[in-house]
Amino acid sequence: MDSKLRRLSRELNDSFKEREDEIAGSLLALISKEHVLFIGPPGTAKSMLAKQMCNCIEGSSFFYYLLTRFTTPDEIFGPLSLTALQSDIFCRNVEGYLPTANVSFLDEIFKSNSSILNSLLTILNERKYHNGSIILDVPLYTVFGASNELPEENESLEALYDRFLFRYHVRYIEDELNFLEMILGRSETFIPSQKLTIEELGGMQRDAAGLPLDDAVVEAILALRRELHAAGIAVSDRRWKKLVQVLRIASAALGRQSVDRTMLILLQHMIWKRPEERATIRKLLIEIAVSGGIDIEQRERDLHDLHASAALLKDYVLPCTVTCPLCELDFERWKALKGHASNHPDHFYILPGSEEEYQLSSVRTSPRILPNLIDKFASLGKPVKLTMPSPERELYLGDVEEFEEILDLLQRDLDAERTALIRQLEDNFWLSGKDREDMLYEYDVKTRGMIDMRKLLGETRRLILSEDLQTH
Ligand SMILES: [Zn+2]
Repeated sequence: MDSKLRRLSRELNDSFKEREDEIAGSLLALISKEHVLFIGPPGTAKSMLAKQMCNCIEGSSFFYYLLTRFTTPDEIFGPLSLTALQSDIFCRNVEGYLPTANVSFLDEIFKSNSSILNSLLTILNERKYHNGSIILDVPLYTVFGASNELPEENESLEALYDRFLFRYHVRYIEDELNFLEMILGRSETFIPSQKLTIEELGGMQRDAAGLPLDDAVVEAILALRRELHAAGIAVSDRRWKKLVQVLRIASAALGRQSVDRTMLILLQHMIWKRPEERATIRKLLIEIAVSGGIDIEQRERDLHDLHASAALLKDYVLPCTVTCPLCELDFERWKALKGHASNHPDHFYILPGSEEEYQLSSVRTSPRILPNLIDKFASLGKPVKLTMPSPERELYLGDVEEFEEILDLLQRDLDAERTALIRQLEDNFWLSGKDREDMLYEYDVKTRGMIDMRKLLGETRRLILSEDLQTH
């Protein structure tokens, strides 16, 4: 099944250039029994694509109509039956019209007037048609609607717009080679090498019904709902339910046992309502799809802590012992001396070989009051070493080595995670080349912190080992 769909997708992509997203969405809509809306200028092969989708299902019938403001129900649902009318029964001959079609393309769909809209909405939503007093089950899979623009503000048209789960903005072909191939190519009808059968479609829906969602996907959906809400993008509960069902079907069609995070990007074509929302939604989905997994942030915090505490332990080794005669205390290191001075601002200190008494204070009122003894030593030609006391030094070097091993393991796990991600993306024919590229790029951005960590770890090691001389 997987390979049949994959082949269909490949054949359709060979036949329609630059329609990767639309083709994937149309196939997915077809097996999910959802509707697709194409918004864009005329002449972008929208009706052709819809017709070929119908071609992909064995024995299915197609109904096409270009609506205008004056289209009557007869043209869409079939003419009134004259024989029935003679017996005072009001019903239509629906054969060959929308109520008997499996796939339909309705061009300029937002031109639908009120005489059509109610029946159309019922067909799209409930797949029922009220033919006089009889309620028909319609065999419809998917309606492809097309329009040049979004519907004007009108409650019924908005209800119609809401029926389309998949929405695409279709543009003209951009690439010149693709364009030439399209205009010069043989315009034979596309014939898929293998068609999907109605049974297969039903089977895929059954397979999908109980497919579980990964915990990460459940969390991502909740996060997404919050983010969309904050961005002022409203998605109805009913739409959410359908979205999850489509994700299940897409995953089942790939032969997966659950819905994983990489499937979330598919929602980009099903959530937006106004075109300006599309970019925001896509970006959000990509971020959410690659979030989770291995978390390097905790390690980043650990390393910053290690670096900061190593920096705190660095101290100036004084070139000679400094004594506080009042307390009869000797100081070998600058931090202890500074601590003593701030506790006892009025104490003074003697340097060996001299009777001079110095006081430490930031306010210098006489030459004997020094803001910084380090500078004093430097000016005497006795540079002071900034170093780390040796028992701590051994301890910290051990920590750095341990951290190096942790980073190596982390890197190995990340490499494995990246490889798994690539495999998941490559295997997923619902995604476009651009989707794959953007998701992998986002993953690499997320793990770029590894490079910074290696750098910081090197700096920490240098910090521990260095013995900088403070010179004047
Ligand atoms: Zn003292």
